[in-house]
Amino acid sequence: MNCPYCGYRDSKVIDSRNVNEGVRRRRQCLSCGSRFTTQEQLQSASLFVIKKDKRREEFSRDKLLTGIRKACEKRPLPTGAIDKLIDDIEAELYQLGKVEIPGAVIGDMVMERLKSLDNIAYIRFASVYREFADISDLKQEVDTLVGSEVSVSRPTGQLPLLPNDKLGRLARSRQRGRK
Ligand SMILES: [Zn+2]
Repeated sequence: MNCPYCGYRDSKVIDSRNVNEGVRRRRQCLSCGSRFTTQEQLQSASLFVIKKDKRREEFSRDKLLTGIRKACEKRPLPTGAIDKLIDDIEAELYQLGKVEIPGAVIGDMVMERLKSLDNIAYIRFASVYREFADISDLKQEVDTLVGSEVSVSRPTGQLPLLPNDKLGRLARSRQRGRK
């Protein structure tokens, strides 16, 4: 940082203090002796999404939010659930420490979370994101979703190890535990 008074390029730090947004430094110009203050801030790293056609686009929280809101429209979700979902994804993305992330990775993160949040929202999001070609693709996804629920609550083909009512209760509590 050049001296704002004489333009000289070197200064010494005479005081340094941490403030909320970063570090504030009091400096003195080595040429004219003027004092001035600089502030260092952590700049959040840019994150780029690689699209299907290989284009790169800066990650946009708003864009992600719009897509998820659309999928969750009129669904009985708890207040703040969508914001939390986005927060989680954003945090996870930055934790990856990468500059570029394939859009598919983000899409999968959203799908995974929507699945445990709301089945209808999940299917809506999947139908846009996976670009279901026709109704049979959609049916397959729904079947998979329904199948994964049934398998927990209704074991078939095996002799029950516990009496039915106990088994049912066990399955129910296991289902609750998964959430
Ligand atoms: Zn100066």
